[in-house]
Amino acid sequence: MTEVWKGAAVTAAQTERALSAVARLKEHNVTPALAIVRVGERPDDISYERGAVKRCEKMGVVANCFALPQDAPQGALIELLAALSADPLVHGILLFRPLPKGYDDDAVRAAIAPQKDVDGITDLSAAHLLTGRGPGFLPCTPQACMELLDHYGYDCTGKRAVVVGRSLVVGKPAALLLTGKNATVTLCHTRTADLAARCREAELLVLAAGRAKMIGAECFAPGQVVIDVGINVDAEGKLVGDADFEAAMGVVRAITPVPGGVGTVTTGVLVGHVIEAALRAAGLGFA
Ligand code: NDP
Repeated sequence: MTEVWKGAAVTAAQTERALSAVARLKEHNVTPALAIVRVGERPDDISYERGAVKRCEKMGVVANCFALPQDAPQGALIELLAALSADPLVHGILLFRPLPKGYDDDAVRAAIAPQKDVDGITDLSAAHLLTGRGPGFLPCTPQACMELLDHYGYDCTGKRAVVVGRSLVVGKPAALLLTGKNATVTLCHTRTADLAARCREAELLVLAAGRAKMIGAECFAPGQVVIDVGINVDAEGKLVGDADFEAAMGVVRAITPVPGGVGTVTTGVLVGHVIEAALRAAGLGFA
């Protein structure tokens, strides 16, 4: 029987750990704070913002939202990010991307202090991902995938892992983190030959292509664990993953649902990073 690995079980553990760290920070008169910066009114940004604010409240973290109009000058955005980076009462900065057309993404990202880059988007966070050293944070979603695997007791050592998708936000960092966990990783993309065969060979399948139900019955094999990162809207307007969930059921060993899987864990990772940034700034560590 296929197990459904839900995110809620992971977030319960995250919340417990976070609450005890926040209590410790309180003893040092520190309240962890996240600044959320949005340009424009994209519905998916607003929906993520709402979820992040709610999760912050639950974990005792202050969340302040800064919304700039779609046509705000780049200078205003950079000025805001620089001010938040310099503000000792702000521990983490979340900037929604992609930015509207016309913005220089590199210049904007560079305005975020790496020690407050809780979403792992600055170049120093990328270096941190590669070396494990220096300031910055791992990107939240790939870290959420690892936390899911850890929570459900999956040992990656020696496993054949296939990651579908090679973006800087999900696919590439997920491949690196899995390598760090001693899996043998194949990274697939639109130019991969015979994707279905590559997927069938996998013991662990991480899907981050952003194509509704693209991975179907021909891609699954018995015993597989499927981590579905995709968040897509299907033809009926329903939220679905990259996996054809029904086709996987009864074949694979375990699969994460969409919604209610990786996405649920991701906001918990983000808030955990804000708390960690506050602990680092106060010279403390996660107990
Ligand atoms: P991108 O569009 O940046 O990258 C998609 C990747 O998938 C690309 O590398 C692309 O290959 C590859 N790809 C697309 N179609 C195919 C195909 N038919 N066959 C093989 N490879 C393919 O997306 P993101 O990485 O930003 O996001 C991926 C998904 O994850 C989205 O659904 C997104 O909504 C979701 N997401 C979920 C989060 C969560 O918390 N759960 C957070 C962030 C994203 P190529 O490089 O060749 O173009």
